[in-house]
Amino acid sequence: MVSRIAVVGAGVSGLAAALHLADAGCEVTVLEKSRGFSGRAASRTREGCRYDFGANYFKIGSNSVARLIFQTLPTEGLSRVLGDITAFNREGELLPPDPERNRHSRWTYRDGISSLGKRIAALDTFQVIREIRIRRLIEEKGTWSLESDDGTVFGAFSAVLLTPPLPQTADLLRESRFDHQARAELIADLEAVAYHPQFSALLAFEEEIRLPGDAYALINADRGHDLAWVSLENRKARRVPAGQSLLVAQLSPDWTRRHYESNPAEVVGHALAETGRLLRHDLPEPVWTDLQRWRYAHPADRVATAAMSAVAADGLYFAGDGLIGRGRVDEAMESGFAAAAAILRRIGGV
Ligand SMILES: Cc1cc2nc3c(=O)[nH]c(=O)nc-3n(C[C@H](O)[C@H](O)[C@H](O)COP(=O)(O)OP(=O)(O)OC[C@H]3O[C@@H](n4cnc5c(N)ncnc54)[C@H](O)[C@@H]3O)c2cc1C
Repeated sequence: MVSRIAVVGAGVSGLAAALHLADAGCEVTVLEKSRGFSGRAASRTREGCRYDFGANYFKIGSNSVARLIFQTLPTEGLSRVLGDITAFNREGELLPPDPERNRHSRWTYRDGISSLGKRIAALDTFQVIREIRIRRLIEEKGTWSLESDDGTVFGAFSAVLLTPPLPQTADLLRESRFDHQARAELIADLEAVAYHPQFSALLAFEEEIRLPGDAYALINADRGHDLAWVSLENRKARRVPAGQSLLVAQLSPDWTRRHYESNPAEVVGHALAETGRLLRHDLPEPVWTDLQRWRYAHPADRVATAAMSAVAADGLYFAGDGLIGRGRVDEAMESGFAAAAAILRRIGGV
């Protein structure tokens, strides 16, 4: 009999897992609370610009991710992000070039990094149901059902893979009906992983702006500056009309935490002032701005896995960057592949 598997979350980890499971013959349903694909690998269009306002690019750190990107998915529109990343310190001084930081290629898609998830879903090997937030799981005699906010129940599944950021996964499990002696330990482990919040401010200018040394991006190496990152979205092919510039300025987790409830104009104003100071010239008034507040941008830690391994015997699995301990698109996908492989081992193929 074909195994039915549910995946909660259409971020890159959930979609990578769904693809792997479907390729092995499972019937997979992905349930996603938002309208989009790719989760924090997010893109948006505005005033003729296409920009990535979560993850800026992805690297290709393993053979399985390389196979996915270069062989399984269409490569049309796949593009390298050109230019180096230069580090700066808490005083805003640029540090000497670090070849190690710039050793690996950085990738995105011309139509936005979110195209990664869209392309996986477009292979059409599994079902994706969007705009459905899963509120709780119900386990009964070894099978799983999932209940959404509006009371719709999806099921029955022989295994469930949870991929939201771990604090959200902990909330979901607290609401769920399943008995396991590791349940309390599991929820405590998930809750114990803190995530850094982060503001991403987008600053658009009607003129060409360059970063020092013609860099693609500047990154704060000692985490003491209010800015964590500044990059030029125009270094990605065909994203910004000629003669214009689009800067991505990400505030540090510390600053974001302290100003999480501040109004957007104040946050964008600070991002603009700090970016001008870092570039050592007054920036002109932006022609438009955008702001995204990420509550769970990057995990600060990796989750403990003993309780997770214990509940896997009952068909409950986890994937996502919280299992890695840092925010990386390619590593999150890798965790999806690993979870899919573990599910397949348990069900003994399909
Ligand atoms: C500002 C920022 C900059 C970054 N920069 C980079 C970078 O340059 N390079 C890089 O490699 N990585 C970067 N990252 C990290 C990278 O984006 C993440 O590590 C990666 O996208 C995580 O993927 P995921 O599948 O684990 O989680 P997510 O992308 O968070 O996917 C989880 C999905 O679950 C959905 N969901 C949550 N709860 C529910 C529910 N109850 N029911 C249904 N669906 C639900 C969410 O909507 C989401 O789509 C950055 C992240 C941020 C925020």
